[in-house]
Amino acid sequence: MKPEPVLFTFHKIREQSEHGNAAAWRALLDFYGPVFFRLLEIHGAIRRQEASPIVKKMLAELTANGFERLRTTSRQSEREFLGDLRARLLEMAPEASTSENSQVPASGAFEPEKVAKLLDGVPLLHKEMLFFKLAGYTENTLERLMRISPRVAEKAFERLAAEYQAARSTEQDRCPWPAAWLAFLKHARSLKTEHCIPAHEIVRIHDGQVSWYEKEPVEKHVSGCLHCLEAWAGLREVGYWRRAADPLSSAEIERLLEVIPVEKPAAKKSFFQRLRS
Ligand SMILES: [Zn+2]
Repeated sequence: MKPEPVLFTFHKIREQSEHGNAAAWRALLDFYGPVFFRLLEIHGAIRRQEASPIVKKMLAELTANGFERLRTTSRQSEREFLGDLRARLLEMAPEASTSENSQVPASGAFEPEKVAKLLDGVPLLHKEMLFFKLAGYTENTLERLMRISPRVAEKAFERLAAEYQAARSTEQDRCPWPAAWLAFLKHARSLKTEHCIPAHEIVRIHDGQVSWYEKEPVEKHVSGCLHCLEAWAGLREVGYWRRAADPLSSAEIERLLEVIPVEKPAAKKSFFQRLRS
């Protein structure tokens, strides 16, 4: 007889996974595992079969020392939680990122000042689209991700000439210059200042929950800050792949589960053993 299905929500998963609950971890990997693989495939140009060790490494780090690192991740919302994990995962990726098929952009093309200049003077929507083009997104996926035709940013895309030309002609969602791009993302994340926008405010804006008055100064900051633009685009991205990424098989989930210190029911002490200890 099949066990009763357990309905997991983000909050339940987040809470129970800290206690090493195996069912919660299965649900976490079922819900979010596909997002991890997609992110590595796009930003790191790492194929699914080669991405497993990186995902496992991230999960092992997250759950070490009694789930210490996991406890520091967001409890507020699924996207903030995934935004945290996305940053960590992409920081772990460069070691594994394969250099084959990787286009080497002209030196300095991904220096933050150079990227800031590339994005300068266009509306935030176009900056975000340029960001995703540099990350290797095709226009088809970009349209689903942004829910608007990338043609609106056609003029901005014309900036992708010379050293960024490869971003204009991607045929699959895969970064043409993963090593340089991952280094840029890491650099962008390090540019955080006291004026930077908390993730929950970005999520509220993406969800249309704030008034124009609240939104305007935030969008102005994000427009001029690579750290916040990276977070802004990253939160949109994880929300999209949470719905759109292909599911993992149960065998894949079980293999990932191997690195997580979940409670093993068989190892539980019996009532009498507990009385004696
Ligand atoms: Zn900022």
